[in-house]
Amino acid sequence: MSKVVIITGGSSGIGKSIGEFLQDKGYTVYGTSRNPEKVQNSKIPLVALDVRDSESIYKAIGEVIAKSGRIDVLINNAGVGITGPIEEIPTDEMRNNFETNFFGPIEVMKAVLPQMRSQKSGLIINITSIAGYMGLPYRGIYSASKGALELVTEALRMETKQFGIEITNIAPGDFATNIAAGRYHAPVIKGSAYEKVYGNTLAEMNTHVDSGSNPIEMAQAVYVIINTPKPKIHYKVGAFMQKFSVILKRTLPDKVYEKMLMNHYKL
Ligand code: NAP
Repeated sequence: MSKVVIITGGSSGIGKSIGEFLQDKGYTVYGTSRNPEKVQNSKIPLVALDVRDSESIYKAIGEVIAKSGRIDVLINNAGVGITGPIEEIPTDEMRNNFETNFFGPIEVMKAVLPQMRSQKSGLIINITSIAGYMGLPYRGIYSASKGALELVTEALRMETKQFGIEITNIAPGDFATNIAAGRYHAPVIKGSAYEKVYGNTLAEMNTHVDSGSNPIEMAQAVYVIINTPKPKIHYKVGAFMQKFSVILKRTLPDKVYEKMLMNHYKL
C-alpha cells in the first residue's frame, strides 16, 4: 500500500513541487488550498483548508482519512511572508502572520496526531525557514514565526516519540516561488525614518526570491527524509551561503555576526 501524504499549501511553489514529485514516486498525495476551485490544472488532488480556520483543518483531515484510511506523512508547508520595519507594521498584520505561520501549523498537527497515534506511526515535516535561525532586519516577524515553529518542532518531537511518531523540520533558503506576491509588505512610507533603507532592502529581498533555487530541491529533500528511518531534528535546504549563515550564527561572536548581516543588507 502506498504511503498517504498530505501537504498544506499544495497549490503553489514548494508545496506543489513536493506534491507532484511524491505522486510521481507512487505516493498517495493530497494537497490543500484555501480555494481549490480556483487552482487550474493541479496535478495533485486539492482539498479545501485554511490554516487560520480550525474547522476547515479538521474537515480536510477528516476527508483524507475517510478516503485513504490513514495519514502517514504531514507536510506543514502553508506559510506567508511579512516584511516591514517593526515600528511600522500594524500589530494586526503581525498577528495574521503568526496565525498562518505558527498557530496554523500547530492546529494541523493537532488534527493529525490522534490518527498517527492510533496507527502508532507517522511523520510530520514542518517547513520553516533559514530566516528562522536569526532575526533578519525588516523581516523580524517572519523570522520570529518560523523560529517559533522550529522550537515547537523540537518540543513536540520529544512528546510524541513514545507513539512512534517522527517530527522534523526543513528550513529552506531562498526558492523561486510565488511567496513575494502573496506576502504582506508594509508600505514604504514617504518621509518615514525608514523610507530609504527599508525601500532598498525590500527591492533586494525580492531579487533574492526571484533568483532563488528550484523548489524541486525541496521535493528531493522531502523524499529522502520520508525514506530515512530516523530523521534528524533539523534540515536546511538551499544555497551553500544560506545554509552556512546558520553555522556562522552559531560560531561567530554575536556582534561580528550582526555586523556581517548589516553589511549584507547595506544597513
Ligand atoms: P507560495 O508559492 O506563495 O505558496 C504558499 C502556499 O501556502 C500556497 O499553496 C497557498 O495556498 C498556501 N497558503 C497561504 N496561506 C494559507 C492559509 N492561510 N491556509 C492554507 N494555505 C495557505 O510560497 P512558497 O515559497 O512555496 O512557500 C511554502 C513554504 O515555504 C512557506 O511556509 C514559506 O514560508 C516557506 N519558505 C519559502 C521560502 C522561499 O524562498 N520561497 C523560503 C523559506 C521558507 P492557497 O493560496 O492556494 O491557499
